[in-house]
Parts: sequence; structure tokens; C-alpha cells
Amino acid sequence: MKTCLFILFFFSTHTFASTDPDVKVWIGNKLEKSNHQIEFDLPWLDVVDEELEFGKNSIILHQVEKAIELLPKVLNSPKFKQGILEYSRRNGDQKFSRNYLWDRKDEKLSNAEILNIIFKGHEHTIPDTYNQMNLNVKMKKCTRFENMVKRKWCKGVIGHTLPKSSKWITVNWQFYRGYKAPQIVNNLVHEWIHLLGFLHGSKKTMGEEITYVAGRLAQNIAEEILAAE
Ligand SMILES: [Zn+2]
Repeated sequence: MKTCLFILFFFSTHTFASTDPDVKVWIGNKLEKSNHQIEFDLPWLDVVDEELEFGKNSIILHQVEKAIELLPKVLNSPKFKQGILEYSRRNGDQKFSRNYLWDRKDEKLSNAEILNIIFKGHEHTIPDTYNQMNLNVKMKKCTRFENMVKRKWCKGVIGHTLPKSSKWITVNWQFYRGYKAPQIVNNLVHEWIHLLGFLHGSKKTMGEEITYVAGRLAQNIAEEILAAE
């Protein structure tokens, strides 16, 4: 029974709301060519670090804090908004793969609607905090035993969430120990968008989902901001 529960738990986190480092992200067709700037009527999205559970004085925490400093600049940048609004898949379709919340397959969302949901910032488990990216992040370092029995999470998942039941983003020490702030920006954006209700579909088209695309887009912008500083 224990094994069964474990498998179920693992399946549910890995399949629907975790970051797989092997997914090839497709950032869209238009971004490089686009030279017109759109006026956006969106509220400012605040970034609130509610709880961060990392080791004290950890180098990783320092990079996480740097990422959190970058996040409001990145998310509120016209480039981020435009990248989502004008996103198109490999086949040219101007939409995201699995463009619906939870399992509401009948309510497909346009890029503009997804952008609005992101800026509304309504995490399923954190009610009444609109226009805020509320971050509760804890780092998990797998033990030697877990590395043996739970190898897939320990070696193959950057972070995960349980968006229906928890406000927490759990991140994997194995990856974070080598990350600089822009890569952390990428993963936090990805995981946080899960908390809004966007889950994963088929691995084949996962790289065209809002979680992966917004994460990578945010990382690129964070890198540009750092390079310009
Ligand atoms: Zn994910």
C-alpha cells in the first residue's frame, strides 16, 4: 500500500506540475522579428516573497533573492507581455499548447486571456491576493536513500508544485546549486504559473506550454537586464 501511495504521489507531481530539464522549449516565431510595441492595459504585478526555506547564508538563497529582485522588472516588462501575447507554436498557430486551466478542456484560452490570468495572479491556494506573485519556496535536497528509490525526482525534476492543495513550490537542490539568478527566474515563473492552474499535457508539446515558454522568456529578459547593468 505504501508503495502504491508513493507511486500515485510521484505520478501526480511529476506528470502534471513539475519541470523537466529535458523539455525543448519553443519560444515562438515572432519575438525576434517584432519591432512594434503594444500598449498594455495590465496592472503592475507585485512579487511577494512570503516564505523562503533555504539554508541560512546559503549561496543558493543569495541567487534566489537576486532572482526575486529581478522578477518584477522582468514580468512587468513590455517584452515579457508581448512575448506571451504574440506567441505562436512551431506550426504557426498563435496559441499555447494545453491552453486551458485545470481540466477545463472546453474553455480554451487565447494568449491575451492567459496574459490576463498571469497578471491577475490568483493562486488557487492563496485567495484574495490579486496582482501578486506570492512566493512560498522551499528547497529539497534528496538523501542518499531517496536518490536510490526516488531517482526520477532527485535527478530529473527541477521543481514541482501541487497546485490544488498547496501554496508551496518545492525546488531541487541538485539543480539549484548550479543555477544563477536568471535560471531561477525561469523555474520560479514556471512553477508559479502552475499555482494559477496551468498543468502539463503531453511531453511532445510541453515545450509550447505557457509554463515553459513564460519561464524561458523570463530567463532571457533577466539575462538581458543583468547584462545591461
Ligand atoms: Zn511544470
